[in-house]
Amino acid sequence: MAVPFLKNQSLLAPYMQLDQRGKVQAEYIWIDGDGEIRSKTTTLDSKPKAVSDLKEWNFDGSSTNQAPGDNSDIYLRPAAIYPDPFRGGDNIIVLAECWNNDGTPNKTNHRANCVKVMKQAEKEKPWFGIEQEYTLFDIDDKPYGWPKGGFPGPQGPYYCGVGAGKVYARDIIEAHYRACMYAGVEISGINAEVMPSQWEFQVGPCEGIKMGDDMVMARFLLTRVAEEWGVKVSLHPKAVPGDWNGAGCHTNYSTESMRQKGGMKAIEAAIEKLSKRHAEHIAVYGTDNDQRLTGKHETGHIGSFSSGVANRGASIRIPRHVAAQGYGYLEDRRPASNIDPYQVTDIMVTTTLLM
Ligand code: ADP
Ligand code: MN
Ligand code: MN
Ligand code: MN
Repeated sequence: MAVPFLKNQSLLAPYMQLDQRGKVQAEYIWIDGDGEIRSKTTTLDSKPKAVSDLKEWNFDGSSTNQAPGDNSDIYLRPAAIYPDPFRGGDNIIVLAECWNNDGTPNKTNHRANCVKVMKQAEKEKPWFGIEQEYTLFDIDDKPYGWPKGGFPGPQGPYYCGVGAGKVYARDIIEAHYRACMYAGVEISGINAEVMPSQWEFQVGPCEGIKMGDDMVMARFLLTRVAEEWGVKVSLHPKAVPGDWNGAGCHTNYSTESMRQKGGMKAIEAAIEKLSKRHAEHIAVYGTDNDQRLTGKHETGHIGSFSSGVANRGASIRIPRHVAAQGYGYLEDRRPASNIDPYQVTDIMVTTTLLM
């Protein structure tokens, strides 16, 4: 059995309390060629007041599946600053966009286009709330806490479960929740999911580009927190094959018109537009999503578009309370847990407001 490398809190603590002599640590993070997050640190002479105070940096893209070896430099362009919950004090995490040498966005940089789209649609103040489902695995790639060589009892007691044998890894989830709050990520809740060792956190409502930014940051914080417990985070939409729930990223969406009295008209108009571009949406709603959108386990089938009030087997659900009050938001249940949130928020706004 592999042994996870865990940090030794008591050995580390005195060093983390040492005076930084006015210097600041900036952890730059970015999305790599496989959709995973990478990071590296640089020292700053003082705390930056704005993104524009930060340097454009670079890294070896041939080591991250982002560039060929003979033209490997990828540029890191700072996009947003977050307080660093791991190092504390004035230290920061810098969310960065990846740019190629020739001035084009790197293939992993879907933020650049999303910024443009959100700018074009800013009058309608698009809000998003994403429910990120994920699965925890131990260092040997077995679902975390599952009996070795066997399976836990069937699904039923685990969703929003409380108590030993129903809930796994609550300490990781609590640490992540607080780390998000400290960093200023708009985290709005957590719950244990239907499959044991599967969890969900929600981020939102966030306006425009902040949805993608806060989601990438929340994922980074989760992966980084779980690293300290020697636990792996999987965003695969069907992390365990068989009669176990898949994992999604339900994307809740509203515009100014939808949020006002009589907004149901705008919600219905948006659903009508979404129904005409099902295939285009599915194309950016995550890889291996066909393993999840089977029409079973609270999903609509990947091959067809459907919508309904309070219907968890549909592509789009109008929450019951939204239908009752006549305005609010819609929930797109199709996006998989491994989506790029910039691509998803981009196409939702493009389809409903810009076409
Ligand atoms: P579910 O019942 O589908 O599990 P959750 O409570 O997990 O729903 O998530 C609902 C999400 O919807 C939250 O992230 C919340 O921030 C978001 N949300 C609430 N109101 C709006 C709105 N007007 N526009 C967009 N998102 C919203
Ligand atoms: Mn939810
Ligand atoms: Mn859920
Ligand atoms: Mn949902």
